[in-house]
Amino acid sequence: MASSRIWLSSPHMGGSELQYVSEAFSGNWIAPLGPNVTGFEEDLQGYLENDVLVAALSSGTAAIHLGLLLLGIGAGDEVLCQSFTFAASANPILYLGATPVFVDSEPDTWNICPFFLEQAIIDRIAKGKKPKAIIAVHLYGMPYKVDEVAKIAEKYDIPILEDSAEALGSTYKNRKCGTFGDVAALSFNGNKIITTSGGGALVTKSKDLKEKAIYLATQARENKPYYEHTEIGYNYRMSNISAGIGRGQMEVLNSHVALRRQMHDFYHSVFENVNGVTVFKEYSADCISNFWLTTILIDSKLTNGVTAEDIRIKLLEDNIEARPLWKPMHMQPVFKKYPYYGGNFCEKLFNAGLCLPSGSNLQVQEKERIRVALLKALRYNAK
Ligand SMILES: *Cc1c(COP(=O)(O)O)cnc(C)c1O
Repeated sequence: MASSRIWLSSPHMGGSELQYVSEAFSGNWIAPLGPNVTGFEEDLQGYLENDVLVAALSSGTAAIHLGLLLLGIGAGDEVLCQSFTFAASANPILYLGATPVFVDSEPDTWNICPFFLEQAIIDRIAKGKKPKAIIAVHLYGMPYKVDEVAKIAEKYDIPILEDSAEALGSTYKNRKCGTFGDVAALSFNGNKIITTSGGGALVTKSKDLKEKAIYLATQARENKPYYEHTEIGYNYRMSNISAGIGRGQMEVLNSHVALRRQMHDFYHSVFENVNGVTVFKEYSADCISNFWLTTILIDSKLTNGVTAEDIRIKLLEDNIEARPLWKPMHMQPVFKKYPYYGGNFCEKLFNAGLCLPSGSNLQVQEKERIRVALLKALRYNAK
């Protein structure tokens, strides 16, 4: 293929990352602790506001795992989890020997459906076991129905783990995503809105919880001259090198959010006069998405039979990466045997949707290539 690859979402350095990494080298802080780790945590706390406390970890998955542990989840417990998500939202439930109970999404946000969430809680209680936690996800950066979900959680006294891995920079009623759950998880994987090459963070609301998270993430070592352990620990702390990248990325987070939102506007203009393609957008002025990824739904009855998969393949022929939406967890072979509450809404999303290249680093010429390829795939004459 002649032209270079256009990725769905690729790392985008701001410029000062290397300086922080270089400081780590000059101070010989080549370790999973140090000034960058502390500094990155402070940067995140300052950004998220609302008095949250952040523990930097080796991945978003580790944050979800420790978050569930801090909520007291153990073997035999049931955990409610949005089905329409990435497997990393649900896998840690299994790490703990607990059972996932999956819940369908609703049309406004594509996130956990409050109606089916309550149905699931009522039915699980009737079957003899009250679920111990709710994992709600701001998928693709779109805030879930925070108030509605919180109301149900309160009514049944079940804590929320907020999976904000894709939603750093999104807001709900002017408050940052990542500050709503009893605990929340962030991710800085290579494809996320900012990256530390690989990393994550747990957001907590108390000093005790943050300290407990760091203690568990550093092998649950007691404060003794020798190694004393009273609990099972993990090696989940973030490296001071990675945190240096994170500090540089925090300087450009707001501009990256603005650029991703511009990508979203760009797709609106591309599909303005195209039948059968809907760009997914905010349903209310209450929520602002970082549009980590711009997603579309295709109604092939209105596109002369062109499907999401046809478009994906056509883009690939032009060396442009697009991807189906997340395949729901209740449809995954590995999770099939667990309970599911809902209809077929998220299944329909999976069948009709597509994620489009959304990086904050896409250039004018690349956008033009995408535009032409999309219109070609839909058999429109690109002008
Ligand atoms: C990326 C992601 C995670 C996991 O984060 P890692 O840092 O890759 O471990 C969890 N949940 C969702 C929704 C994600 O997109």
